[in-house]
Amino acid sequence: MTDIPNTLGVPATADQVVEVADIDQLRGVLRSAPDALVLGGGSNVVLGRHLQQTVVLMCNRGISVAADGEMVEVTAAAGEGWHRLVRHCLDCGYFGLENLALIPGSVGAAPLQNIGAYGVELAQRLVRLRALRVSDGSVRAFDASECGFGYRDSWFKSAGAGQYVILDVTLRLSTQPQLVLDYPDILTELSRMGVKRTRPQDVARAVIRVRRRKLPDPAKVGNVGSFFKNPVVSRDVAQHVQSLGEGLSAHAAEPAGMVKLSAAQLIDQAAGKLETHGGAAVWPRQPLVLINQGKATGSDFVALAEKIQAKVMARFGVPLVLEPRTYGL
Ligand SMILES: Cc1cc2nc3c(=O)[nH]c(=O)nc-3n(C[C@H](O)[C@H](O)[C@H](O)COP(=O)(O)OP(=O)(O)OC[C@H]3O[C@@H](n4cnc5c(N)ncnc54)[C@H](O)[C@@H]3O)c2cc1C
Repeated sequence: MTDIPNTLGVPATADQVVEVADIDQLRGVLRSAPDALVLGGGSNVVLGRHLQQTVVLMCNRGISVAADGEMVEVTAAAGEGWHRLVRHCLDCGYFGLENLALIPGSVGAAPLQNIGAYGVELAQRLVRLRALRVSDGSVRAFDASECGFGYRDSWFKSAGAGQYVILDVTLRLSTQPQLVLDYPDILTELSRMGVKRTRPQDVARAVIRVRRRKLPDPAKVGNVGSFFKNPVVSRDVAQHVQSLGEGLSAHAAEPAGMVKLSAAQLIDQAAGKLETHGGAAVWPRQPLVLINQGKATGSDFVALAEKIQAKVMARFGVPLVLEPRTYGL
């Protein structure tokens, strides 16, 4: 039995944990353990105490670049750290990832939930990815349009879950700054920093400062970032929900005609910031984040999440959906 690394910091073991550095090794492991669970950094999973299966940790490395005029295509192996890739691209003068700075985890997991932050989603930058089919070891390229990207979702996280292992990801970035400054938090931070002419590097620094202030550092306090997705509902439902609470925000979302409610506000007003179960608790600075107070188990997190979901449903009639995936629970 071996421990499975996870940023919630819950005790979790598997029959076997294997670090995989290349495709041939991956094919070999999957031949003998086709039901293996593939993980990167374990920063978006809730794990039970023991998984009766093999866990594969993707550790392949490598970043390559193909220039195309002002644009570049950057290909990064699944086992690269996401934030390391963001820093590398900024250092090289390839822009477009700065709003996604400091998101924990691996490059290979980024398409799974179409990672996003501060107005940018991976889907806006991804050109294609390569993935290995678990059933026969063949390798296939998926264009962005074939990945089924949605809000914190993709085909790989939903209908296609477990069918493919992502090997590498190709992003289209620009050598000319393309600033996305829609979020007031980032604008406020830039002005606090005294930035006059904003460069992509400044945006990354502002994002990092805001994230460090708002989110617990998983190295110190176990967490997986947002535990729930923001609910996307029709305008009529949003108006009804808004009439049941105080100052609830609603922002236009896709598909057209839908709006996104703030799960944090719904939790705040329906459940408050003091909910706990066993060692799991709500992070008082951001109720969307659940934290490990020290000795939480995966079951504690699931029980706390269910308590919160029930309270939000009772008060607002809105189902909250978990953002991380659960295994062995
Ligand atoms: C403090 C904190 C802040 C966060 N902030 C954000 C944020 O702003 N935006 C955001 O979108 N997310 C955020 N997250 C969630 C998390 O960082 C991302 O979802 C990240 O992409 C997960 O990467 P990972 O390597 O840790 O994935 P894991 O947790 O290891 O895996 C997640 C899922 O992906 C699958 N998977 C992993 N690698 C592969 C692969 N190569 N091929 C196929 N499937 C694979 C796993 O089976 C699992 O289902 C945050 C998490 C934390 C702890």
